[in-house]
Amino acid sequence: MIKYKIHPLADVQTNKIGEGTTIWQFSVVLKQAQIGANCNINALTLIENDVIIGDNVTVKSGVQIWDGLRIENNVFIGPNVTFTNDFTPRSKQRPAEFLKTIIKHQASIGASATIIGGLTIGAYAMIGAGSVVTKDVPNYALVYGNPAKQHGWVCECGTKLNKLTCLSCNKVYTMINNALTEQNRTEQNSRK
Ligand SMILES: [Zn+2]
Repeated sequence: MIKYKIHPLADVQTNKIGEGTTIWQFSVVLKQAQIGANCNINALTLIENDVIIGDNVTVKSGVQIWDGLRIENNVFIGPNVTFTNDFTPRSKQRPAEFLKTIIKHQASIGASATIIGGLTIGAYAMIGAGSVVTKDVPNYALVYGNPAKQHGWVCECGTKLNKLTCLSCNKVYTMINNALTEQNRTEQNSRK
């Protein structure tokens, strides 16, 4: 029994799709793509072959997910976000291998941002609308602009942190070896 939903106007060639996922009108998904459970793939998206998408991922309309992309659980990809996978594109000239881009879990990418190929976008990172991201983005970083620069940190709930504390949900963060960590998570780790 098929437990995912493909709109009759979509062209979906893979059957590696998790339970509860929906793929909407005029989307094209190639044969080897893997899509996890409970994803929402909005209308007018294109997903190529060498693509792995985790669970609970939202892909808004107008997004092309090219070969080489790895998208972890709970990622949000806004409308018309653009990915690239080749630094020196020429017509009819394919590189030996496409660049690998990793979007870590719970990261969010704002509308119409461009993510250059080969980068890693950190967990819980927030990319502002219209940004052009040319460098790796750390976990929890808030970046925007062209080229995108860091303008602080964001909480797991999405609010910009005030001195490493979230004024919306009261989570507190600490900086360990130049990496931001949520304090409860640190305590859990040290108890192991
Ligand atoms: Zn918060």
